[in-house]
Amino acid sequence: MFFIKGRLMFGLDARFLVLVLLFLTSTRDPGIVPRNSHPLEEEICYNSSVPVDASGRHTPIPPLPRTKEVFVNGFSVTVKYCDTCQIYRPPRCLHCSVCDNCVERFDHHCHWLGQCIGLRNYRYFFLLVSSSALLCIFIFAMSALNIKFVMDDYGTLWKTMKESLASVILMVYSFIFFWFAGGLTCFHLYLIGRNQTTYEKCRRRADNMQNVYDRGCFGNFLEVFCTKTKSSRYNFQAYVQEETPMRI
Ligand SMILES: [Zn+2]
Ligand SMILES: [Zn+2]
Repeated sequence: MFFIKGRLMFGLDARFLVLVLLFLTSTRDPGIVPRNSHPLEEEICYNSSVPVDASGRHTPIPPLPRTKEVFVNGFSVTVKYCDTCQIYRPPRCLHCSVCDNCVERFDHHCHWLGQCIGLRNYRYFFLLVSSSALLCIFIFAMSALNIKFVMDDYGTLWKTMKESLASVILMVYSFIFFWFAGGLTCFHLYLIGRNQTTYEKCRRRADNMQNVYDRGCFGNFLEVFCTKTKSSRYNFQAYVQEETPMRI
């Protein structure tokens, strides 16, 4: 009785934990970089300090370079200008075509969650995937145990399966889902150990680029799990400011 009560409580706790992690991953700001409401090119063009030629017109300004070099850990990294957000993206930032936002430390856009996985929710995403894999193991083991108990009473496998059909379905379901969640957990453990994102992993394999963010396996795990999460760059509860039209 104590054993059954114990596994029931553990199962409920584990499911509650997975639901909390699902909520945190899908609702948290993944690290959206605010758009520039006054694009740099427009500011330069309409700035009164820009030289005026003999005919009274502003001297044409050359367009902004599409890329620029910044230094990360002593290595030169190329960052690109985002035409949609009108900013130079910080290193490891990418514009998500689904969310239409630039996201810091962009990992991937998760279509299951309908959310980008980035700097501020990657930790919760990994915990969600790994705890789902553990929950699958737990459900599989408990279903198998339940079938064994029923089999002790009924004797034959066919009668047992008819009597505990739910346990059989749960065993099949958790077995299939475990390969997905467990595989994803192993893949992200590998990525965390190398301090790479899914996007960087796919891109570096194509470009053969050097990983400038690698701090050693232990340092990489510390960075993901033990560093303070950066606060959001957006105040989602703030009132929308009315945009003042730019003077020409
Ligand atoms: Zn962007
Ligand atoms: Zn996205």
